[in-house]
Amino acid sequence: MKNTHDTNLNTPNMKEGTIKDVYSHIKDHGHAKVSHQYMRNVKNQLRLVFWETTAGCNLECIHCRRLDVSTQLTKDDMTTEESYEFIDALVETGNPILVLSGGEPLFRPDIFDIAKYAVNKGLTVALATNGTLVDEAMAKKIVDAGVSRVSISIDGADAETHDNFRKLKGSFERAIEGFNHLKKLGMSMQINCTIAKHNSHQLHDLYNLALNLSAEAIHIFMLVPVGCGVEIADDQMLEPERYEYILNEFYDLSKEAKIQTKATCSPHYFRIMRQRAKEEGITITPKTHGMAAMTKGCLAGTGVCFVSHKGEVFPCGYLPVNAGHVKKQPFKEIWKDSPVFMKLREPDLLGGKCGECEYKKVCEGCRARAFYETGDYMAEEPYCIYKPKIAKTR
Ligand code: SF4
Ligand code: SF4
Repeated sequence: MKNTHDTNLNTPNMKEGTIKDVYSHIKDHGHAKVSHQYMRNVKNQLRLVFWETTAGCNLECIHCRRLDVSTQLTKDDMTTEESYEFIDALVETGNPILVLSGGEPLFRPDIFDIAKYAVNKGLTVALATNGTLVDEAMAKKIVDAGVSRVSISIDGADAETHDNFRKLKGSFERAIEGFNHLKKLGMSMQINCTIAKHNSHQLHDLYNLALNLSAEAIHIFMLVPVGCGVEIADDQMLEPERYEYILNEFYDLSKEAKIQTKATCSPHYFRIMRQRAKEEGITITPKTHGMAAMTKGCLAGTGVCFVSHKGEVFPCGYLPVNAGHVKKQPFKEIWKDSPVFMKLREPDLLGGKCGECEYKKVCEGCRARAFYETGDYMAEEPYCIYKPKIAKTR
């Protein structure tokens, strides 16, 4: 991914630079200290903004975070002008990667104007799409708009599994076609896979599919019961032990280093990674563990936020705790001072076993799953089987 965003990382031997700069520096110099400093993101710099550019979508996937699925643009979507103002506000706040998502972002007729505007303002822009609307002409428009990476959601290694989840026959084939159109034009491509009961046996097949498609990255995502996901939670959420197994499997695949891998919204992966590396006598550095060595589990409110199609700001797209509204307050103020974000930035306020866990600073547990389970987003992550050391001594 072309990555030009500034992390403002200060190290004795290095000037402030982009994530890419930091990564190359570490690769060249094996500078583990840098990765620790970066991971801690001491100043809570804004790294990634997920923006639901529209709530409209052509699919009605069974796990969608939205409750009201609209097959057309909604009147509440920010206008083009409001979108530009929002982008200006982002630039005043930092230099994050802006992920244009939805709904289905390609539903918006002005999406390419918005992407170009953000790129011209110096932001790195990524597009998260279901891929089904990407034909040759659309692929060219995406490339011409200056988008740096496109992620396409593939939730099954075969058409039947994916189409059942996405509730549209033919969506797998269309997503793969969309992927190939973009790949042919040289776009950096990422595959996002939501792992749940219906496809948990397909992890290796999904990984091989990503390799066969020559994707740059595969990100697996652990289901969060929000929006439509609540309705399928009982049927689709894996038992915590099974998630532990899958995340271990993913760790093994990651070590092949054939493709960028990331376990998203599976914060305890970062605990598993450390446990496994210790067992194997390996020191975690970007050389051995890629970008995973430089980040932490849950980034909601500490490096990442989500902005809804109406302009509401949330810690992430799955944690429905409002931190502000971009049309009512300067975004910079929300990011800096929102009480919700301030709380999320204090791992010492974590409750239950997360609060006493020796891995809390690299993991933090999923705040959205904690919220779903207890109504308290600082409560313990309900899908982690780990018993912190201190609890073991009681
Ligand atoms: S709370 Fe954190 S881990 Fe959970 S869904 Fe949001 S960003 Fe992902
Ligand atoms: S107990 Fe909480 S902080 Fe510790 S590894 Fe599990 S989810 Fe992470």
